[in-house]
Amino acid sequence: MNRRYRKTIIAGNWKMNKTISETRAFAEEIKPLIGRPKWCEVVLCVPFVNIPSAVRLFKDCRISIGAENCHYESHGAYTGEVTAEMLKEAGVKYVIIGHSERRQYYNETDITVNKKVHAALEAGLYPIVCVGESLEQRELGVTMELITYQVKAALSGVPADKMRHVVIAYEPIWAIGTGRTATAQQAGEVCEGIRAVIRKLYGARVARAVTIQYGGSMNADNAEELLAQPDVDGGLIGGASLKPASFVQIINAANQE
Ligand code: PEP
Repeated sequence: MNRRYRKTIIAGNWKMNKTISETRAFAEEIKPLIGRPKWCEVVLCVPFVNIPSAVRLFKDCRISIGAENCHYESHGAYTGEVTAEMLKEAGVKYVIIGHSERRQYYNETDITVNKKVHAALEAGLYPIVCVGESLEQRELGVTMELITYQVKAALSGVPADKMRHVVIAYEPIWAIGTGRTATAQQAGEVCEGIRAVIRKLYGARVARAVTIQYGGSMNADNAEELLAQPDVDGGLIGGASLKPASFVQIINAANQE
């Protein structure tokens, strides 16, 4: 983390978990534990149907609400889809774009990711853009080439003045939901590499202000070490964000003076 130049963001990704009543129970349990984190922003990205209740329930404990996806068009005949503007009006601040599960199961491509980044920014949302390599790609030694391509593709056409709204999440696919975490060194190296790509595209001032998260089995035990890396500015957290106690422990690791 480097709080001097950029925001630390701890974001939960609930994926397809929790009903509205379970969301309410989570809120009741976390509120007495969380306090008012001073040094990091806390976000919960929840299923679409939970958004209105989540916005209401978490308002008084300063947890911002995120969505897990959006469509890139502004309206139209796309049954089952949700626009960035609908999310904005519902009280959403962040939207995850290009999560590896969407790339794997729902034909998300670098091109749709780029369109969605533009749609999110246009609507006034903060996109959390996910990039990451498979185990095979890591073993082949092409991690940084692939991540460079993904970052450049996602940001294509995004002007420098919009970059303060963009968050990048480095999420090695082999570490998501597997209990296998990247070492702090691996996470730090790739996040540093991502910042170098942004520096080349937008210059040093923009690059040093961009929040770059790590995601992939981050938990209460490994958060502190991962967040100690200078270019790891927070986490995108799946499994460990579903339980108030473990999520709060990660928040506390990010919130130390
Ligand atoms: C994720 O889905 O973004 C994620 C990092 O999941 P987990 O923490 O469960 O690996």
